[in-house]
Formats: sequence, C-alpha cells, structure tokens
Amino acid sequence: MGIVLIWCLAVIVIRWITSERRGAISYDSSDQTALYIRMLGDVRVRSRAGFETERRGSHPYIDFRIFHSNSEIEVSVSARNVRRLLSFQRYLRSSRFFRGITAPNSSNILDDDYNGQAKCMLEKVGNWNFDIFLFDRLTNGNSLVSLTFHLFNLHGLIEHFQLDTMKLRRFLVMVQEDYHSQNPYHNAVHAADVTQAMHCYLKEPKLSKSLTPWDVLLSLIAAATHDLDHPGVNQPFLIKTNHYLATLYKNTSVLENHHWRSAVGLLRESGLFAHMSLENRQLMESQIGDLILATDISQQNEYLSMFRSHLDRGDLCLENANHRHFILQMALKCADICNPCRTWELSKQWSEKVTEEFFHQGDIEKKYHLGVSPLCDRQTETIANIQIGFMTYLVEPLFGEWARFSNTRLSQTMLGHLGLNKASWKGVQREQCGSGDDADPAFEEMDSDILPQEPRLS
Ligand SMILES: [Zn+2]
Repeated sequence: MGIVLIWCLAVIVIRWITSERRGAISYDSSDQTALYIRMLGDVRVRSRAGFETERRGSHPYIDFRIFHSNSEIEVSVSARNVRRLLSFQRYLRSSRFFRGITAPNSSNILDDDYNGQAKCMLEKVGNWNFDIFLFDRLTNGNSLVSLTFHLFNLHGLIEHFQLDTMKLRRFLVMVQEDYHSQNPYHNAVHAADVTQAMHCYLKEPKLSKSLTPWDVLLSLIAAATHDLDHPGVNQPFLIKTNHYLATLYKNTSVLENHHWRSAVGLLRESGLFAHMSLENRQLMESQIGDLILATDISQQNEYLSMFRSHLDRGDLCLENANHRHFILQMALKCADICNPCRTWELSKQWSEKVTEEFFHQGDIEKKYHLGVSPLCDRQTETIANIQIGFMTYLVEPLFGEWARFSNTRLSQTMLGHLGLNKASWKGVQREQCGSGDDADPAFEEMDSDILPQEPRLS
C-alpha cells in the first residue's frame, strides 16, 4: 500500500512538473532562418542505430533536478501544492496506467445531435477550410480518433489490409491519449489537423493516381502519430536539462525519434498488424520513421534543396517508390506547418496557441534564470512578429516549392491564405508599433499572382 501511495505521488508530481515547466535554450545568432529552426527544433539526424520502441509509460517529463543544481534557486513543492495535486481526477488523467487501460474519454458520449453534426462535417473532410476545432468540440475531444478512423474507412484501408476495427479503434484511442492535452499547441487536435491536411494532399491528382494503399496507410499513421507524447518543450531544452531522451538519441532529432518509437510501441501493443508478415511490419515501422523524422524542422533546408533540385531537373517519377516516399515526406512536412495556409479564423487560433506554448517556456526560463529563448519573451515578442518570421523563413519557401510540384487549386488557395494572413499580421504589427506607414508591401504582394513565391532564406 505504502509503495503504491509513493508511486501515485511520484506520478502526480512528475505530471505537475511537466505541466509547469517548459523552455528552450538561448541562441544568439543574427541568422533568422537558423533562429526559427532553432526555436522549433534542432540538430540533424546522425544515426539511427539500434531500434528500441519507447516503453509506454516513459513519459518524457522534465528533470526537476536541473533547477536544484543551481544553488541560487530554491524550489519547493509545498504541502499545499501537493495536496492540491492529489485530486483523484488529476491522478486519473495523469496516470498512463489508467489512460492506457480504461481510456475513459474514448467513446463518444454525445447526443445524436452532436454526432449528427460531426458526421456531417466528415462528409467534407477533404475541404481545406475544415474546422478541426469545431470538429473536436462536436466529438467531445475525440477528433483524432474519429477523423483518422473515418479516413481509414474512406481510403478503403480497413478492407484492403483486413484490419480488425476494434483493434484499429483501440490503437487510435491509445494514440490520442498519448498526446498531452495540457499542451496549448502540441496536442491531439494538432495531430488531427495534420492528418486532415495530409488527407487533402493525398487527394491531389499527382499523388492520388500513383499512391498505393500501403503509401496511404503509412501516411495517415505517420500524420496521426508524428508528435506523439510531445512534452511541450523543444529539443534544446531537453539537451540543456540532460533529459534522458536527449542522451538516448544522442542529441539528434530527439523529439522526432521519440514520437516515432512511441508510435511503433503503440502499433505493436495494439496488435493492429499482427496478421501481417514480420518483414512487412518491420518495413512499415521503418518507413513510418522516415516520414516522422522528416518533420524535424532543423532539416528543412536539406529537404527543400533536394526537392528544388528534383523540380529543377523535372526528374520526379512517382512510379518509383523512393520518389513517392520522398514526396510523402514533403507532404507531411507541409501538413505539419500548414497553419498559416489555413483561413484567417483557423490560422489565428493556431498562432495564439503556439505562442502561448512559447511564452509559457519563456516564463519558466525567466523564473528559473535559465535564459529566455528567442521568441519566448512575452515582454519583447508579439504573435505578429513571430508569425511573420515563421511565414517568411519557413512556410513560404516550403509551400512555394510544393506549389511548383503540385500546381493545383489547393496550392493556390494555400498560398493565397498565406499571403493574406501575413498581410493581416503585418497590419497588426503596424498598429502595435503605432506606425503610420501606409505603404505596407504585404498588401502589395497580394496584387499579383503569388504562385510560386521565391524562397527568402536571407
Ligand atoms: Zn507537429
């Protein structure tokens, strides 16, 4: 009994620590592209030797001891705080044991009206203006499960791969539950949004006519799991706090490796593909890894220059499986950072959420004198500044090339929203600065066809 109590207390305190501490490392460079890359991720993959799945329950909490190592800082968990944390509700929510076994939020306990509306929305799941926030509310917070299950059905994957629907649902519930709902941005709704975007890209004519059911299967699984068990802090923070994941993955694509290994752990645990040959299952795990690891933003320039070279040479042949998988990597990268390409109403909400996560990091870094990371200081940064930089240095170059590859109405729509949203943020920025400039080039950009845009990697 005593041991159980101590274990419970440890789980609660660890969960509290995780929810309270976010941060990122300082970085002083005038290179803006590098700055944004640093903020959103870091370091390239050097090795993928060895293959261990992440044990379920290996929650990537932040090691509190780093704060104790600084003698100037006294951190105390008061008895009052502990009592506050000892609510059974919080324990249930934080315990992966309970989350894994009972999955209390897994079924839609909704009235017919809500279910009807959610089903109605799913009929338009391929629309670029699909409102994932509304869908999440209509499904009682089960957007990732509902949407992904629907897409498996829509693409005929259940039939083609002879999937057990109960196992599939259980797998998706585990995936959804392994996202941290307390993260303002990196949560299951972001995963659902990326999966929906991926579905839109899979439907693009160039891809849809050459993709195999296997490609679609891997793409949807990778999209749904690409940020699995995200701790709400970035890689530099994990490195500077000597987090065990940073050590495990030798400071390279630490988060992406963790997302991938966690996904593989859940795939194996669910037994969803137990009826397939070992060879196929291993191939699947490895290819899902290639897709998820491509979302490491620090590798953006490498992927982008490869993409650009292929497009310049015009040598992409989607009959070739390697080329197809490369395009799927690019598609997942686009899906992952497509927020600025959505309508203003959706895009603005994402901007607020991601900034909230950044500023929360900054607050903690200030509190513990860890050095406030770029983009994380609420005293000096604004959503508008962050978004304009993000769009200029990361999103525009990527989507410019994607539009060269797939010059469709969807690509034009995405670039159109991107331009309009950037103009809107520039308007906000101008208001905040009190500047009376009326010659904002952002609006002038919208006069011409912005397809494709020149990359601006200054
Ligand atoms: Zn993501």
